[in-house]
Amino acid sequence: MLHYFDYAATYPTNKNIIEKSFSVTGNPSSPHAFGTEARKEVEASREVIAKAMGCKTDEVFFTSGATESNNTAIFGVAEARARVCKRIVTDDSQHPSVAEPIKHLEEKGWEVIRVSTKNGCHDADELKMAFSSPVSLACFMTVNNETGACYDIKQIRRLIDMSGCGAHLHVDGVQGFMKYDTPVTYRLCDSVSVSAHKIGGFKGVGALMVKKGSKIKPFIVGGGQEKGFRSGTENVNGIISFAESVCGWKGENLPEIYENTLSVLKEVPYLEFNIPVNHCNHIISCVAKGIRSETLINYLSSAGVYCSASSACSTRAKGNTVLEAYGLPAEKTVNALRISVSPETTKENLQALKETLLAAGKRLIL
Ligand code: PMP
Repeated sequence: MLHYFDYAATYPTNKNIIEKSFSVTGNPSSPHAFGTEARKEVEASREVIAKAMGCKTDEVFFTSGATESNNTAIFGVAEARARVCKRIVTDDSQHPSVAEPIKHLEEKGWEVIRVSTKNGCHDADELKMAFSSPVSLACFMTVNNETGACYDIKQIRRLIDMSGCGAHLHVDGVQGFMKYDTPVTYRLCDSVSVSAHKIGGFKGVGALMVKKGSKIKPFIVGGGQEKGFRSGTENVNGIISFAESVCGWKGENLPEIYENTLSVLKEVPYLEFNIPVNHCNHIISCVAKGIRSETLINYLSSAGVYCSASSACSTRAKGNTVLEAYGLPAEKTVNALRISVSPETTKENLQALKETLLAAGKRLIL
């Protein structure tokens, strides 16, 4: 039996969603019946996503995933606003799909202010200072993919409005969508990125919500699909899978599963926890004292227990800037372990996690 604890990396798609998603094979831009059938499915899916995000259907643009959504928002807003001012406010624990485009702009002469996320919190005074002069773009996330920290988007919106700095507020909602975020939060944002595969849809599909009236240029140009904002034939099957995963989502039990997971993990003596005051209910960040991440992940994997070190993306990068920004010394980040759960996580899964972690400790700690 397999015990999956890597839902923050991806949420495996169930058979019903796979079947439903491949029921349509046409190109939504084709004028014949195959095309109209595909168009209908795409537009019905757009309605589902718009409802879940609390916006209008014509504010939802389908993309190839949140990496593209984040790149589109950042480069699209930067291009539209470069003449007004070249300042960006963000924080120091963004996902690489936000951090890298911003670094790219910085190399091209933009000024970037990175607010600290020590202990998974923003300092109110630091945030206030950051918005005290004109800002083109503010980029934040609702839920951090490594620490599970949740950020107060309402506070950021208020600071932007009170300061009159004029920033476009872009928010990465990938880890919070359906699990923590609310449509009310998204309505405070000028753009929001979400991704299908974090909630059971396919990999390679996502959406960008862009509030009507926002100044933003298209990032991918070509055949003019998505009202000219995102060219490329729509990933119809992926889009259907996205809507299906939203429709089938039942997350009411997540807080209980989170508490059960945490109490099981607390029985493992070599684990230390990095739990922010405001945290989501599906990501637990730990440090395994005395066992390096790769060694522990491999041991667990060979016993059918799947976890990750931190994020699937930062395993490719050198070091771990997010955990260091949280306040962990570099020597501890090499022992990081991320457990992420879903509404489907069972007591049997948790029992197996505990037993395998205890066995790993006996075997691997010298
Ligand atoms: N932002 C966050 C917070 C994420 O966790 C991820 C996925 N790891 C992304 C963006 C990128 O999403 P995608 O895989 O759809 O490109």
